[in-house]
Amino acid sequence: MNNAHWLERSRAAVWHPCTQMKLHDSGALPLVPIARGAGAWLYDFDGRRYLDAISSWWVNLFGHANPRINAAIHEQLACLEQVILAGFTHAPVVELSERLAALTDGALGHAFYASDGSSAVEIALKMSFHAWHNAGQPHKNRFLCLAGSYHGETLGTLGVGDVGLYKDVYAPLLRQATPLPSPEARQAAPGETAADVAQRAAAALAAVLETEHASIAALIVEPLVQGAGGMLMYDPEYLRQARALCDRYQVHLIADEIMVGFGRTGTLFAHEQAGIRPDFLCLSKGLTGGYLPLSVVLTTDAVYAQFYDEQVTRGFLHSHSYTGNPLACRAALATLDIFAEDDVLTRNRAFADRFTALLRPLATHPQARHFRQRGMIWAVDIATSAADFRLRLFREALRRELLLRPLGNTLYLMPPYILSDSDAELLAERTVAALDAALA
Ligand code: PMP
Repeated sequence: MNNAHWLERSRAAVWHPCTQMKLHDSGALPLVPIARGAGAWLYDFDGRRYLDAISSWWVNLFGHANPRINAAIHEQLACLEQVILAGFTHAPVVELSERLAALTDGALGHAFYASDGSSAVEIALKMSFHAWHNAGQPHKNRFLCLAGSYHGETLGTLGVGDVGLYKDVYAPLLRQATPLPSPEARQAAPGETAADVAQRAAAALAAVLETEHASIAALIVEPLVQGAGGMLMYDPEYLRQARALCDRYQVHLIADEIMVGFGRTGTLFAHEQAGIRPDFLCLSKGLTGGYLPLSVVLTTDAVYAQFYDEQVTRGFLHSHSYTGNPLACRAALATLDIFAEDDVLTRNRAFADRFTALLRPLATHPQARHFRQRGMIWAVDIATSAADFRLRLFREALRRELLLRPLGNTLYLMPPYILSDSDAELLAERTVAALDAALA
């Protein structure tokens, strides 16, 4: 079976995500059938290969078909694939919950599971409201979010998002949170630092909280990097001030680390760079090393205590069928083992310095604006008026064996943590070549 075979069957039967399907049929947007993966590379059915420079939608950390994660899943598969988590428990979910709690120094010691990022955010929003409700403050039922924020695609998460492309058509269905000014550093006026922008955005948050805190349950943020909004990066000072303001005004702080968690920004969790802890921490994507759908909301003793009662309806009755799936939890435990055994964060820091140097031709490209990097994320805005730039770059990258998927005019690289130096050189060189071809 070759590529053409699978393409035809996929186009007829699969409705692909985040895609205007007509673009596939017209050929403007290639559809790539993948037969297998190994490390940072994906292989199609015709023997072509593609460097997964976006970690397959930001999930993959240690490469495709990683032998250590594979082995852990195989072992688990032989004894238990799935069991209901209401009224039952199992070793992988217990061990994972303990390990995650320890990674937050015990500050977030209660783990509530779901299957994907959006459902984790839904859980955090519901839990925040319900905790205030149980505390006798049911009027705290609104949420604050940041301009340019993205927290998922379900109706609840679109309501705290601010990316029009995904949300605008559904406006009549949404309970929209008011977006506050983002601290993202591109907004710095001449002479201003990223910390100055963060300071300004925090002042805007303070003003809203001062007058409206009585009706606000939580502020939700993507710590340090707003991903789908365009890889917008900001100074940790914003998180420090947001934490202090949320404490002062009795508002929960929800950290959506679905993209930035597990080392993406340089530390295991992004919020660590601000020296704070959120009230809710949403994790998914890299949690299983990018293997299986799993998400978790970690929260505090104080929130947990608000639900602990004789009355059933004061409990958190939310559920998903595959909550805490044992195979996914095993993949997550194997992923945490790799972090511990390989000193991944130290290795990533050295890699990031080398890769940033390799990307100098991209950073200084005549059409490049606001080249930025944090941890294992690199992004740059491309000055072009071509409406189809995104598609052109995607196609030119594929021609050069790269999987790149720009966000509008923002070109970003988010490779798996196992990229070799020779693959990093190839990626840096061919990204610029693909960019030049897309702009030609
Ligand atoms: N929050 C953030 C910050 C994300 O980047 C994403 C996914 N890109 C989500 C939430 C939603 O996660 P999922 O796609 O798994 O529902």
